[in-house]
Amino acid sequence: MRKEEDFNEWYIDAVEKAGLSDKRYPVKGMNVWTAYGWKIMRLIDEFIRRELDATGHDEVCFPLLIPETEFKKEKDHIKGFDSEVYWVTHAGLNELDVRLVLRPTSETAMYPMFALWVRSHQDLPLKVYQIVNTFRYETKQTRAFMRVREIHFFESHTCHETEEDAQRQIEEDVEILDRIAARLCLPYSLLKRTDWDKFPGAHYTVGIDTVMPNGRTLQIGSVHHYRTNFSVPYGISYESEGGEHVPVHQTTYGMSERLLGAVIGVHADDAGLVLPPDIAPFQIVVIPIFSKDNAARVGEAAKALAGSLSAAGFRVKLDDRDVRPGSKFFDWEIKGVPLRLELGGRDLDGGVVTFARRDDGSKGTIGLADAPSGARLLLDSISASMLEKAKAAQASRIADAPGGEVPDDRVARIGWCGCEECGRRFEEERDLKILGTPFRPERFEGACAVCGKPANAAYAARTM
Ligand code: ZN
Repeated sequence: MRKEEDFNEWYIDAVEKAGLSDKRYPVKGMNVWTAYGWKIMRLIDEFIRRELDATGHDEVCFPLLIPETEFKKEKDHIKGFDSEVYWVTHAGLNELDVRLVLRPTSETAMYPMFALWVRSHQDLPLKVYQIVNTFRYETKQTRAFMRVREIHFFESHTCHETEEDAQRQIEEDVEILDRIAARLCLPYSLLKRTDWDKFPGAHYTVGIDTVMPNGRTLQIGSVHHYRTNFSVPYGISYESEGGEHVPVHQTTYGMSERLLGAVIGVHADDAGLVLPPDIAPFQIVVIPIFSKDNAARVGEAAKALAGSLSAAGFRVKLDDRDVRPGSKFFDWEIKGVPLRLELGGRDLDGGVVTFARRDDGSKGTIGLADAPSGARLLLDSISASMLEKAKAAQASRIADAPGGEVPDDRVARIGWCGCEECGRRFEEERDLKILGTPFRPERFEGACAVCGKPANAAYAARTM
């Protein structure tokens, strides 16, 4: 399957061959995470936890079920999710008086509790997060990690005294994103969504998008400013010095297993996965290259090499199976292991080990005695070059198209006056989605692609 020719088919095939997920589970869109896929997701979750813990967020865990009465308190929110939630209507043989919804996201589970937790300004800011599964009844064609019905994701929820405090939280969220994206070697763009496409109930939404090789965008996360849209109906307020009850300003931030989908889409090639070193279950595979007369000597040395690399903190696999080296290479390429070390008799004699990089296929040798420092340099270089290449590729898939003529495999930067009528007309006529306007202002000279009036930049694309 060629990535260039049919991205969608290629993607399904790459996931399947690498054994990341088993889609044979008898509920569509609810795939089984296999051990290898889950290891990668756990590494991603670890970075998310580390970042959120370091920025003063506390991890919590809320119930999966939300009573209908709480779910329906914010009217835009329920309108947005009405058609995609799963309901629990029975407990045993009894019909429930109050139906329960499987969380599609956790605002309506958390906010009744926040109303109890927040009393005075001393309780603020309140910053919590959880890493859980959420459920959405997806009606479009499902696809592993990209479009599923049970979604593994993290969501952070914060409460602040003022709108400006909440705005500063959004800035912090963006910094956190940048650090996580660098670990995953993922380029992204930040676009303020249109009013008709923002999160149901939000004051505004910033979408985080990555462009796939077929020119379609994949939303990998979002950040929302709620102002007081939820705190008013849920009664989350603090007592001011004057004794008044002031509603808090809220934000949320969420990213899902689509991060993994994006890593596969951006980095994998026709031979299989190409994993960024920071999230590879095995960063290094050590393969002894035996001949008949040196098997014991080479085997021992390979074992010692793998041991010294593990001791230095790398995730290492020693592949000493009794199969041809060629088929071992093939297997680990499919799995995306960033660095392969081959150790044969001639390498041993020369005091070196031969390496092959998964990202660009280049080969060379490093000294056997200081293999850990050599491996560190190589893995760092792989990370840096994967990120740089991916950024360049993403930039090349974005084209200036002031009039809105967009090649099939490109994201277009168009002119848009900002009015909803022009925006919706553009989307209908071109069969494109306006992803939004740049979160960080960009210089733009041009007119609205619809009405010709003065315009700012907006991005339009086909989405995955
Ligand atoms: Zn216009």
